[in-house]
Amino acid sequence: MSLNTTPNNNNNNKIAFFSTQPYDKAFFNKHNIEFGFELDFFETQLNPQTVILIENATIVCVFVNDIVNETVIKQLAEKGVKIIALRCAGFNNVDLEAAKKYNVKVCRVPAYSPQAVAEHAIAMILTLNRKTHKAYNRVREQNFSLNGLLGFDLFGKTIGIIGTGNIGKAFAKIALGFGCKVLAYDIVTNPEMEKDGVKFVSIEEIFKSSDIISLHCPLNEQTKHIINKKSIDEMKDSVMIINTSRGGLIETSSVIEGLKEGKIGYLGIDVYEQEEKLFFRDLSADIIQDDAIQRLMSFPNVLVTAHQAFFTNEALTQIALVTFNNIKSLLTHNDIENKAALLV
Ligand code: NAD
Repeated sequence: MSLNTTPNNNNNNKIAFFSTQPYDKAFFNKHNIEFGFELDFFETQLNPQTVILIENATIVCVFVNDIVNETVIKQLAEKGVKIIALRCAGFNNVDLEAAKKYNVKVCRVPAYSPQAVAEHAIAMILTLNRKTHKAYNRVREQNFSLNGLLGFDLFGKTIGIIGTGNIGKAFAKIALGFGCKVLAYDIVTNPEMEKDGVKFVSIEEIFKSSDIISLHCPLNEQTKHIINKKSIDEMKDSVMIINTSRGGLIETSSVIEGLKEGKIGYLGIDVYEQEEKLFFRDLSADIIQDDAIQRLMSFPNVLVTAHQAFFTNEALTQIALVTFNNIKSLLTHNDIENKAALLV
């Protein structure tokens, strides 16, 4: 049965967007020309207090830090919302069981530009290693000294990848191009990657043998705090850890200890456990209450970016198109051809 009473007229279907930034509005408005939905944009996060803002929308579109727990889903269902459309790949912030219970469909954008995230992970590695951010500032102040900028060749180094889905695979290809030895751990091995030269090993082997570890698995019960005191102890001295996946993969207190002891030589994070209180906002005039992020940012060998790995023109275009197509497909067929896009 179709979810829509008038499947060919998308104007009757209002989408309420939460956590929207100017670029979201620009890309979704641009691509809505071919879909004709009614769009309502809210800058605020979706949470139990903000559900009330929704007026006559049958669809909500949410992002990584929106709170989509049972309380919210129950209220959404009571308001007549039939679809929760995630405009991202990760869905750890959505209670899928509650969505089933309240008969609300949930869809996502499984792969919009894996290259965008993989390339950002590489950018973090190169920045941390060759310290281009420091060189840039130095030279602008007419300081042409090289002291403190010493890096290492990536060629020949061992890179360990945890999670070899769309992003991990794209990342592996680039790492192989640099002439690195690429190890990978996933719950399923990928024969195509093995043919390309990636060696699938145990998680312990990743920790033990990698000069650089890059996280590309989803956040779930098995992967929460996969980087913790015990796993850090197993790693090589001066290891580089890169996380462009989800903040909860890293136990923040343990990496702070590892950095203080010098066990971790470099840390690059595009995601952070408590990021929903910080990221996507200009807090430059505020007093940050989160001491852990302040401590992390105080290390000279830590690079923090604010969840920007996905942020390319190509990715935002794909996100808008796939999100609208998911919604259209659910409204007309109550299904989505790409099974990975439909969560409930
Ligand atoms: P994907 O679903 O294609 O791949 C995830 C891989 O992780 C799969 O191969 C899966 O088998 C593996 N996996 C699952 N459980 C595992 C476990 N316990 N141990 C090891 N591997 C496990 O997802 P993707 O598109 O490659 O995205 C990966 C993650 O990147 C997403 O979950 C999301 O959180 C994150 N992401 C971040 C950004 C950003 O802007 N920083 C953008 C997109 C995605």
